[in-house]
Amino acid sequence: MNNHLFVDPSLDPAALQEAEPAAVLKWALESLDRIAVATSFQASGLVILHHLRDLQPDLPVLFLDTGFHFEETLRFRDRIAEMWDLKVVTLRGEHGSADRQAEIYGAELYRRSPDTCCGINKVRPLQAALEEYDGWISGLRRDQSPLRAETPIIEAQLLPSGNEIMKIHPLARWNKSDVDSYIKEHDIPTHPLLEKGYTSIGCWPCTRAVRPGEDERAGRWDGLAKTECGIHSFGRLHGPQQSEAEQ
Ligand code: SF4
Repeated sequence: MNNHLFVDPSLDPAALQEAEPAAVLKWALESLDRIAVATSFQASGLVILHHLRDLQPDLPVLFLDTGFHFEETLRFRDRIAEMWDLKVVTLRGEHGSADRQAEIYGAELYRRSPDTCCGINKVRPLQAALEEYDGWISGLRRDQSPLRAETPIIEAQLLPSGNEIMKIHPLARWNKSDVDSYIKEHDIPTHPLLEKGYTSIGCWPCTRAVRPGEDERAGRWDGLAKTECGIHSFGRLHGPQQSEAEQ
């Protein structure tokens, strides 16, 4: 168990479940010594980064550079990082590049075994990086897909090492309209592929624009049963109440 983990005993979990994102973030920043935010610079992530500018602008921003991002994503990341002076921490898979991965596994591993590819380039690099932290912040929202409908505001997550960390979803209660309104109100730039119909943007081999009426994440891993890369599903425990009871 992670000895650095500190959960404020005065926390009222019920109140936090109804709190606005700024209050959730403030609680997380005050309760956890070592905390980071992870984002791929899409709309929800931008809303969180914008909140953090007032709360803790130097928070580490974890970015998973899979080697398969759209060029637009990398350019947009750099633009926002420069504009907001972000402390971006780039995480890469164990093979370091798409070319090296192809040498080892053959071409187009993402088509033959996307779970393996996501494990190499997303899940394992993030798990390794999270060993340095007590918690991380993510922009997941309940309205993004049926699988995310039960997303809690905070939950405990177990790393492969056995260390337990907290995962915080300040925007879980928000919907797409809330995010769009916030972006507009604060004049925040958005990913350039958004206006071309890419409402959820991951790696280029596994992302397409969505069609009218489809849900926000319908363009991810089109034609496969896969709907998540795995970084949000490993080591899930039962939220803060159980975590506190276990301590
Ligand atoms: S989203 Fe596709 S290309 Fe990116 S890591 Fe997963 S399988 Fe590989």
